[in-house]
Amino acid sequence: MKYILVCISLILLSACGTSKKIVDKPIVFNEERMQLTKEYLSTRHGLEQENPTIIPRMIVLHWTVIPTMQKTFDAFNPPKLPGRPDLATSSSLNVSSQFLVDRDGTIYRLMPETTMARHVIGLNHTAIGVENVGGSKELPLTKAQIKANIWLVKYLNKKYPIKYLIGHYEYTNFEGHELWLETDAAYRTVKTDPGEDFMAAVKKGTKRLNLKSAPEQTIIN
Ligand SMILES: [Zn+2]
Repeated sequence: MKYILVCISLILLSACGTSKKIVDKPIVFNEERMQLTKEYLSTRHGLEQENPTIIPRMIVLHWTVIPTMQKTFDAFNPPKLPGRPDLATSSSLNVSSQFLVDRDGTIYRLMPETTMARHVIGLNHTAIGVENVGGSKELPLTKAQIKANIWLVKYLNKKYPIKYLIGHYEYTNFEGHELWLETDAAYRTVKTDPGEDFMAAVKKGTKRLNLKSAPEQTIIN
């Protein structure tokens, strides 16, 4: 009897381990967004490509501060940036990310994994973005989001030649790195997302993968 119970719980455990699902919830990717994305690759990264695709070598984790999944989806959905004059001078392509993790840990895929999204200056040409709903003082990121991010990093690491796992707040450390491609030395924004505690928790859960963190800050003369 005891043996049977152990078997049953093992089966349940392994089922749980693989039962995480990705929910496809695509944002608009029409001809306009296609053209704007190709333009971004050209003007910001200096890459002329027939298709706006990436080879993912990095995962960048974010928080949205926007309090709900739907409001975040609505913000990313239009192809063109509504407002944000600070960003619009660099490109009018709207911001987005390939993945969005809701507060209950549900993982939404907003775009094909290898289509470029605008979520991190200098690195979009090679970085998959994972946004997490929340992050403000009132709505700190959840344990379910930590678990979902760990699962997602493992999933992506199996499919692509991922070398780096970083938090958005670390991105400027890549200036001067071979993966850094940004044509304008003045185009930077200061970021704190997704917080050091969240990063540490996801790093701990994916330790086995030996993914690198951001390099030490490179001094540019
Ligand atoms: Zn961010």
